[in-house]
Amino acid sequence: MYDVIIVGGGPAGTSAAMLLGRCVRKVLLFDSGLGRNRWSNHMNGFISRDGYHPVEFIKLAREELKKYHVEVKNQIVKDVKRVENYFEVTDQDDHCYVTRKVLLATGLKDRLPEIPGIEEKYGKSVHHCPYCDGWESRNKPLGAYGKGRDAVGLSLSLKTWSSDVTLYTDGTRKLRREDTALLEANEIKICTAPIERLSGEGSTLSEIILEGGRSLKCEALFFSTGSEQQCDLATNLGCDFTSKGVVRTYKNQQTNIPGLYVAGDASRDMQLVIVAASEGTKAGVMINKELQEEFRLQITDVRV
Ligand SMILES: Cc1cc2nc3c(=O)[nH]c(=O)nc-3n(C[C@H](O)[C@H](O)[C@H](O)COP(=O)(O)OP(=O)(O)OC[C@H]3O[C@@H](n4cnc5c(N)ncnc54)[C@H](O)[C@@H]3O)c2cc1C
Repeated sequence: MYDVIIVGGGPAGTSAAMLLGRCVRKVLLFDSGLGRNRWSNHMNGFISRDGYHPVEFIKLAREELKKYHVEVKNQIVKDVKRVENYFEVTDQDDHCYVTRKVLLATGLKDRLPEIPGIEEKYGKSVHHCPYCDGWESRNKPLGAYGKGRDAVGLSLSLKTWSSDVTLYTDGTRKLRREDTALLEANEIKICTAPIERLSGEGSTLSEIILEGGRSLKCEALFFSTGSEQQCDLATNLGCDFTSKGVVRTYKNQQTNIPGLYVAGDASRDMQLVIVAASEGTKAGVMINKELQEEFRLQITDVRV
């Protein structure tokens, strides 16, 4: 019987593992190695690790966990079941583990716009988050990509980093009149023509080529096409979700399922490495407190 099984070894999962390891808990961490920012070469805005390589960051975290005897398996978890007051966790090889508590730190995956060649540039000159990559793109000709109202908000936000912003709707011609007026008042250009491809050497972006051959200068493209849970464990366990598609958590990362916690991007819409790490730590503290409380109750029962 483990005290805690953590599914997901990104910033949220590894931070929780460290906290719980330091509480001398028996911890098993599963990770399938698909951290959300693996597309990027730089993890920006994490104090003391600003600009660090995301993969190196996780390697360092894993190294630190060894000292606390956290067990790590590079495996996909395919099922988690709640049975009475514990959980059964099954990995991809059908090995089953039992645990008192579970933390899901399984993250999200982004829906990339369907533009030929985008994957090569994703995380380098095509981004989804101005807080992560806006500074590196400052004062450049920037594009905001999207077909709905989110894209209007994204375009306005990008003005913080550059005066030269264009909204690309990729063939969607209808914009609300008030949105068009807002964009024009903020000197944001609007391009509704369908996009044919992105142009630029390797991972760099220099131009957006529109259908018909016209091209527009663009050195960084930010998109707002949404994201989804990286796996369906939370759905299958019966977790509540918010309208934004993330797990609804209550006090300190607890979910509506007793003994089940969710931390990191899977549970919040402020999606940054340092926030995920802090949520993992919060979940770790709460899990430890819950285990302490259960142990105290057991002792009292025995004495009675
Ligand atoms: C291109 C890009 C660049 C970014 N740049 C920055 C930046 O510069 N600064 C910043 O603060 N934020 C950045 N972010 C956001 C950042 O990546 C996330 O906020 C952060 O990774 C969230 O951490 P997490 O631990 O919640 O999830 P993740 O880092 O996504 O980790 C989740 C882990 O769970 C594993 N997993 C999922 N399902 C299972 C399963 N069933 N079994 C086993 N393992 C599983 C995955 O393989 C993954 O390793 C960026 C995001 C992207 C997409």
